[in-house]
Amino acid sequence: MIEKTSHVQEEKQELLEKDRQYLWHHISPHNENPIIFEKGQGSRVTDIDGNEYLDAMSGLWCVNVGHGRETIAEAAMMQMKKLGYVPLSNSHAPAVNLAEALNDWLVEDYRFFFSNSGSDANEVAFKMARQYHQQKGTYGKYKILSRYRAYHGNSMGAMGATGQASRKLKYEPAGEGFKHVPPPYCYRCPFGKEPNSCSLECASAIENMIEWEGEASVAAVIVEPVITGGGMIVPPDGYLQELRAICDRHDVLLIVDEVICGFGRSGEPFGHRNFDVIPDIVTMAKGITSAYAPLSATAVRQEIYEVFKQKEATSHFRHVNTFGGNPVSCAVALENLAIIEEEKLVEEASDMGAFLAEELSVLWEFPVVGDIRTFGLMAGIELVEDRESKTPLAVEKMNQLLAFCREKGVIAGKNGDTVPGFQNVLTLAPPFIITKDEIRQILAVFKEALAGVT
Ligand code: PLP
Repeated sequence: MIEKTSHVQEEKQELLEKDRQYLWHHISPHNENPIIFEKGQGSRVTDIDGNEYLDAMSGLWCVNVGHGRETIAEAAMMQMKKLGYVPLSNSHAPAVNLAEALNDWLVEDYRFFFSNSGSDANEVAFKMARQYHQQKGTYGKYKILSRYRAYHGNSMGAMGATGQASRKLKYEPAGEGFKHVPPPYCYRCPFGKEPNSCSLECASAIENMIEWEGEASVAAVIVEPVITGGGMIVPPDGYLQELRAICDRHDVLLIVDEVICGFGRSGEPFGHRNFDVIPDIVTMAKGITSAYAPLSATAVRQEIYEVFKQKEATSHFRHVNTFGGNPVSCAVALENLAIIEEEKLVEEASDMGAFLAEELSVLWEFPVVGDIRTFGLMAGIELVEDRESKTPLAVEKMNQLLAFCREKGVIAGKNGDTVPGFQNVLTLAPPFIITKDEIRQILAVFKEALAGVT
């Protein structure tokens, strides 16, 4: 036993040394002491020392069916043995079957363009939106409107649509024609209104922007159903429906970014279904494979696709993506969707989301809790120095809180704006198979953690 333990320690040290020398970590400032994870099962992941953690964020809001799914591994292996790759200028069964399956998840009929990441899916959506208007003979409609606090990805266009200044600061200019309006953030209403006593000024801001920029220059509006990574900002009733009407009035496409909200995370098949809105374009990634393989899709209403079928040599969509729609990723996605359907995980996410929302209400006893926002199986607890001033909880305190949770075996998230001082939303987005006991475990750790914040 002692021998085994020392062997693990040696392996860990070796990995850490190489990690420090060769690996560039995502998101965090240079992480000199990363946890080295080794395996995952259900809602839990285990590190190289054998410590178990409840993965209360499903990785990055993505491992929706939970870790360690054998049938997904088998589907990947079988497809890899059969046909590992051909480009999608021709076709293969996993892509065709996946496109059909995805169409069944949506209300209207769509066409599917496959890529590798959420950022890719949004880039494709922007290019399609711009070309669509030209194909119809309307030139000059190129601007893409989105909201501050939104996150739509890290590539130039997707970053352009993102509304978080410090994610962009060092990399701008990030493409031409991206404009932002204030978010529908009732807790800190940018229009100074009280919740439920406003006239949806946040939606009107988009119509004003379209008019002021000139309708003839605006191609599309992109929104997540709820802003997730920007701090779980749930719009007021009627907001998304109003955006749909605004887009229709101005011949502007409505792109709904379902990268996080899709595939049951919202408690419905897609987040826009929570609001009974039909988007022109839907972008999806993460939960499409529960992150077992990279894949994303841009779904476009069939009428939009038809416009690209004109005969001129330049009318088709000029976009190629080597890995997009890789047969193995598509096979993984098909198995992932089959699991969600067979195990009724959309319903499960909705039920567990309702349970989580109920349980979270005990946190109001802590004065640092300013607001609690939930949507499907996601939650954001906005932490403040005091409820009166709503000063965001200092980021050092947020970091301490998350470190405490990790020590107690719970991995939670920290979201908000990347503007200094506004990373004060504690987030949860557990796998859909999380149990009530596991939710109670998260809450017990949160209570202990919040009791220690002064
Ligand atoms: N859109 C949303 C709403 C996201 O949350 C993300 C990533 O977190 C993206 C797009 C970008 O996805 P990816 O990281 O796969 O490029």
